[in-house]
Amino acid sequence: MKDRILQIRKDFPILQQHVNGNPLVYFDNAATTQKPLEVIDAISNYYTTQNANVHRGNHSLSQLATTYYENVREKVRVFVNAKSSTEIVFTRGTTEAINLLSKILAKGTIKKGDEILVTEMEHHSNIVPWQMVCEEIGAILKVLPINTKGELELNKLDELITNKTRVFSFAHVSNAMGTINPIKELVATTKSHGIISIIDGAQAASHIPVDVQDIGCDFYCFSGHKIYGPTGIGVIYGKEELLNQLPPYHGGGEMIDKVTFEKTTYNVLPFKFEAGTPNIADTIAFGAALDYVNELGIEKIAAYEHELLTYATGKLMQLEGMQIIGTTNNKTSVLSFVIAGIHPTDIGILLDKMGIAVRTGQHCAQPLMDKFKIPGTVRASFAFYNTFEEIDIFIDALQKSMRMLK
Ligand code: PMP
Repeated sequence: MKDRILQIRKDFPILQQHVNGNPLVYFDNAATTQKPLEVIDAISNYYTTQNANVHRGNHSLSQLATTYYENVREKVRVFVNAKSSTEIVFTRGTTEAINLLSKILAKGTIKKGDEILVTEMEHHSNIVPWQMVCEEIGAILKVLPINTKGELELNKLDELITNKTRVFSFAHVSNAMGTINPIKELVATTKSHGIISIIDGAQAASHIPVDVQDIGCDFYCFSGHKIYGPTGIGVIYGKEELLNQLPPYHGGGEMIDKVTFEKTTYNVLPFKFEAGTPNIADTIAFGAALDYVNELGIEKIAAYEHELLTYATGKLMQLEGMQIIGTTNNKTSVLSFVIAGIHPTDIGILLDKMGIAVRTGQHCAQPLMDKFKIPGTVRASFAFYNTFEEIDIFIDALQKSMRMLK
């Protein structure tokens, strides 16, 4: 990766920009990633030469758009190693994916008095939809705690799982700490208790290989925009058997087989879950993003990002008053930290003035912040287009900010 970095950076036009008079250092990749020219061009090409509705027209343009669109489903299947592309359902993103799953599971699978298990490190989008379901049907939300390193307390699982537990929904990687959870172990536990497993892979898919058959999960969700694709496109992988059993989510065109005023029958997978005209342009561009990532190689991306993380962690730890939140050994390239006596927002504002984009705040994980008794963190999150020089610039800027704020 290192030897190709200059070329790689040229593929991302936004990285050539100056922000507040300084070259942009983009360290907010956990919020969203930048897009290579291939992805930007795919959107423009689609509207210039391919635009038509999918799955319904017999004319050539519609067939062309359908082919490109469905090719991406196959690319996603290969990317996560699903058995069949009928197991790949397109959504707007991870948030919609988890909402969809929670709503369809609440129609008969989860009943009053049943329990849903999540973890203490979840993003709000893997907490709130379940709370809404609990309120609606009288189910109970339970929480697997974490330790001070930001790791799951696996020894608590046995006491938390009961014969009422129906679903265990957990992050593959924590967005606020970078912790990589032992998902195979967690899925094995769910299987042994007959519990449905749902994995929030929003922070994993762009950093580490995902093989859903090897993991053995029932559902795996992620977002296109966090993996160098456009916003507005996401994925649910679901086991065919389960998707077939579950009821549809939205009603409308595309998801039906036959409609009469008396009764409607539903389409086959995956269309049963994709009512209405889908996000065709962004799906096709998402395919271009997956091609780009595949070309670089996810293993190589993981190795390079790990080097960036190790380098930055070493430098950060030398700073006075530094507390890193999330200190497990098994992490993606996320560095969340607080500095004694300084509010994270103040650091973020000063870094921004120096052209450095980091995220500050609660990272949509308020319960996690409460656990650590902090108002929020500064989060620097790296991607394969970031460099060691950028980390040096960031550390210098951080030291400057600390001097100004103390
Ligand atoms: N889960 C995690 C762990 C995330 O980091 C995010 C995005 N920050 C989401 C879910 C929600 O993803 P999206 O906003 O793309 O729907």
